[in-house]
Amino acid sequence: MTEIRVIKERLLDQYKRRGYVKDVKAFDAFMRVPREKFIPERLASSAYLDHPLPLMNTGQTISAPHMTIMILDYLELVPGQKVLEIGAGSGYQAALIAAVVTSDEAPGHVYSIEIVPDLVEFARKNLARAGFDEYVTVIEGDGTLGHEKEAPYDRVILTAAGPIVPPPLIEQLRVDGTLVMPLGRPGLWQQMTRYRKVNDIEVIKENLSSVAFVPLRGKYGV
Ligand code: SAH
Repeated sequence: MTEIRVIKERLLDQYKRRGYVKDVKAFDAFMRVPREKFIPERLASSAYLDHPLPLMNTGQTISAPHMTIMILDYLELVPGQKVLEIGAGSGYQAALIAAVVTSDEAPGHVYSIEIVPDLVEFARKNLARAGFDEYVTVIEGDGTLGHEKEAPYDRVILTAAGPIVPPPLIEQLRVDGTLVMPLGRPGLWQQMTRYRKVNDIEVIKENLSSVAFVPLRGKYGV
């Protein structure tokens, strides 16, 4: 069997050729985080196929590898940042983010909120297996309300698609920080969108790409 490292390098070569990702920190994170530890064991051999995988029997999915590393690019991460994720799912995206924002000199942290209790347990277990539990805190609840206790955040990422930006998430974002989310109704496609908080009353909106995500639930979801 081909070594996992080689399979990962091949995928990254493809992504570079297609211009999917520019940030080398994203490549390093992809090499460091074992995706196979974030999916049900019976699917482990599919860990590095470039498509989404089911999250247990919840109807939710873990995004395809190229989407997870494009998200790292969209977030423009640097070590030391505090990041809030909505939709922990398997915990994989949170681990990738943690791999970029935590370093010995600048320890950042990821808080990830998940609304499905079984997935809260699944994400925590996977993060521990992969050695990332120290850098990621998984919180059970409605992520559209954010997590006031640790605010403000440098970055906020939603990995489920909603019709509007949940207002608490903009409130809990640091001035100059960015929020990235798939904006749109569930169906086939949504628009990956980045919001930059200019000051307490102004945000700048930027369209990034067309994406397909599962629906955001909760108070400000669908
Ligand atoms: N980031 C995940 C994949 C997310 S799939 C990973 O790397 O595996 C989307 C997730 O968002 C699902 O687990 C779903 O249960 C969760 N979700 C949907 N609405 C939510 C909400 N309002 N608050 C928190 N989690 C939510």
